[in-house]
Amino acid sequence: MTRVGIGYDSHRFVAGRPLVLAGITIPHSHGLAGHSDADAVAHALTDAILGAACAGNIGRLFPDTDPRWKDAHSMELLGSAHEIVRARGLRFHQADLTIIAEQPKLDPHIGAMAAALASRLGVAPADVSVKAKTNEGMGFVGRGEGMAVIAVATLEAR
Ligand code: MG
Repeated sequence: MTRVGIGYDSHRFVAGRPLVLAGITIPHSHGLAGHSDADAVAHALTDAILGAACAGNIGRLFPDTDPRWKDAHSMELLGSAHEIVRARGLRFHQADLTIIAEQPKLDPHIGAMAAALASRLGVAPADVSVKAKTNEGMGFVGRGEGMAVIAVATLEAR
């Protein structure tokens, strides 16, 4: 039995914050705005895992109106989401992510991001694919206003 979930997240670029993706701080002139650390990669994958289990979504489980989650480390929320689906008799199996951003160039960080996500979820790095691309100058991503992430994850019975 395999269950599939999809996650999407986007955040606006803002000056004066670190850019944190998959828990890794990536050198850039801007970070992402948000209540938590605004880790859009962790958020999209968290929603994919929760979606695969029909277990709600990140906004419902970790609401940004709750002071507990202010400046939260989103990789910890990802781990918490995995615990929630594990309690339902499921476990993370595999994921594929696409990060869409004009800047910065993320290729040098792809391997580290995949390894960090895999480690957090207790799987091998080869079970988490992270890809990056631009939006060819179109839309909010193309104008450099923010970035978007799409994630697909599968869960299996444990
Ligand atoms: Mg988010």
